[in-house]
Amino acid sequence: MAESAAPVAAAPPRKPAARGWPGVGPQLAERLAKIDVFSPADLILHLPLRYEDETRLTMLADLRAGVPAQCEVEVQSCEVSPPPRRQLVARVADASGELTLRFVHFYPSQHKQLAAGSRLRIFGELRDGFFGAEMIHPRLRPVAAGEPLPESLTPVYPTTAGLAQSALRKLIAGALRHHPPADELPDALRRRLNLPALPDALRLLHAPPPALAIADIEDRGHPAWQRIKLDELLAQQISLRRAYAARRAKNAPGLPPQQTLTRELLERLPFALTGAQARAFAEIGADLALDHPMQRLLQGDVGSGKTCVAALAMLRAAENGRQAVLMAPTEILAEQHYRKLAGWLAPLGLEVAWLSGSRRKKAREATLARLAAGEILLAVGTHALIEDPVVLPRLALAVVDEQHRFGVRQRLALREKGCAGESPHMLMMSATPIPRTLAMSYYADLDVSVLDELPPGRTPIVTKLVMDGRRDEVIRRVHDACAAGRQAYWVCPLIEESEALQLQTAEESFAMLSAALPDLAVGLVHGRLRNDEKSATMAAFAAGTIQLLVATTVIEVGVDVPNASLMVIEHAERFGLAQLHQLRGRVGRGVHESVCILLYAQPLSQTGRERLKAIFEHTDGFVIAREDLRIRGPGEFIGARQSGVPLLRYADLGEDAALVDIARGLAEELLRDAPRVADATTARWFGGRAALLKA
Ligand code: ADP
Ligand code: MG
Repeated sequence: MAESAAPVAAAPPRKPAARGWPGVGPQLAERLAKIDVFSPADLILHLPLRYEDETRLTMLADLRAGVPAQCEVEVQSCEVSPPPRRQLVARVADASGELTLRFVHFYPSQHKQLAAGSRLRIFGELRDGFFGAEMIHPRLRPVAAGEPLPESLTPVYPTTAGLAQSALRKLIAGALRHHPPADELPDALRRRLNLPALPDALRLLHAPPPALAIADIEDRGHPAWQRIKLDELLAQQISLRRAYAARRAKNAPGLPPQQTLTRELLERLPFALTGAQARAFAEIGADLALDHPMQRLLQGDVGSGKTCVAALAMLRAAENGRQAVLMAPTEILAEQHYRKLAGWLAPLGLEVAWLSGSRRKKAREATLARLAAGEILLAVGTHALIEDPVVLPRLALAVVDEQHRFGVRQRLALREKGCAGESPHMLMMSATPIPRTLAMSYYADLDVSVLDELPPGRTPIVTKLVMDGRRDEVIRRVHDACAAGRQAYWVCPLIEESEALQLQTAEESFAMLSAALPDLAVGLVHGRLRNDEKSATMAAFAAGTIQLLVATTVIEVGVDVPNASLMVIEHAERFGLAQLHQLRGRVGRGVHESVCILLYAQPLSQTGRERLKAIFEHTDGFVIAREDLRIRGPGEFIGARQSGVPLLRYADLGEDAALVDIARGLAEELLRDAPRVADATTARWFGGRAALLKA
């Protein structure tokens, strides 16, 4: 990302270092770390995705299309077809008939295994190919005549490059043997639940008994799966309760409604709050009135008006004589918030401090002194706010905008800014809407308010997918929009690998557009500009003196210029779905019909195509988030792996609602009667990450 928050210095490692353990060297440990396995205990919880039945042999004549099966065959012949379609094609036979095996990609080792006369067990699906029945890319295993068949189903595990199924199977079998899992649940409880003991459930799933049918064990409703999911949910519920109890035990300044500053702002705002904004502010206000710290996420799609809710919450602190800060991930966004808040609050006689890395030392020191003296109550800034010299003795509320851009530790650092013995209330805001249930499983102890309504008078954004070759047409559109008094963004292609190249393409796009549109005022903003240059350009765009703004993703979040009604995104296929949604949200903020043109280049990858389809079809951020989750899978979604926050691996809050209820009750019971069991359960699932749950 072109401009992201700087990490806090000297943060301890997020995960246990992948050093390995007896039998697992550093290189293997590193690969295991990629699948979140850091110990033998983690291996035991690494459960199969599915199973393959290698306990039986099927005769070639009995194969059915689309049904995976294993056969034992002898190779008759094998050849590599000539280029351009270099393929490995083998003829194999058993007593019942013959079959063709086809490899579109192949390794020399496979070529060798398929030497004429070799005896192999092949595993794959029959398919009616162009040349008759064949198997594409079957798995091959050379065998001696009469070699016995395995007695149980073969588990297939989620894995990563360089970690073969066979190696993973051996490791897991070893871990089960040498580190047998224990079930700490008291016997009486277990009997009541009528579920297998945890070790039995784990053994059954890793090495199913011979009699078990694939369909039974792949069904996540199987009692063994139920037991695993219950344990996982139990760990989650225990951590949630602990985090909740820890928060309740902390002190925070209670901020009852005074109806002075907040009421004044409401009266002066040029608009009425939407129903959703009013509801969210009421929820936040109720939390703020309590004398233990609020921990709330305000979720709302781009443009739903989160800033205004944040301002009201900050005023609730100020009207109680306490301090509040708003932290944003980029200079551009922080400055825009600063201007907006300062504009709203100056008529109320309130000063807002501005803290960013770019402020001159003298001015900065004067501001810091007045904040430290409690003379200024409100501050807006970047992560400069969490730096050491910033002292906020009367801090009561910290708001974090676009909170997913910050690390857990940065949020913690902000919380530490309060005075001794008190924790400030925290309000996190995010326009990367996370489905509610997912939010609850990502962030341990968190209440959620949702802005599910856009302010009135917005015209929906029209999204167009345009092939790269029609760029001239698009440039004409930009011209027409600006000639009609509107403004436009031109977003440069994302080049994540190299900041230098990113800069170069931005400058090229700027030069190309300036030349093609000589009668327009064209500006350029990118991450390498000095902060004052950036802010001058943004101010000129906001004021309308720049008509076309060529930009990198520095404008991705928060930028709010209602007169901008056209956005062009070059090489849209390179952007992530959440990013496209955020970028597109820069338009559609005013009364004019807005258009977002996604320029794309062929060939598109499968996920590239899916992403463009999703962004083209949907405008609702929550739906887009769901699509994103579907396309990317939960592991990568909002970078959960990096944040160290636990994601449910097996249980599903929706599907397993009944288990969630049981886990909730059980968690309470264990915390009360058997805290050691509760400890063991959370350690098993979250290991060293449990501490981060509280962030
Ligand atoms: P986001 O939720 O994306 O942070 P903003 O807070 O930037 O959204 O608000 C988007 C725009 O909508 C701003 O120009 C803001 O002043 C305006 N706005 C906020 N609330 C309302 C409202 N209730 N009615 C009309 N406009 C509003
Ligand atoms: Mg915003």
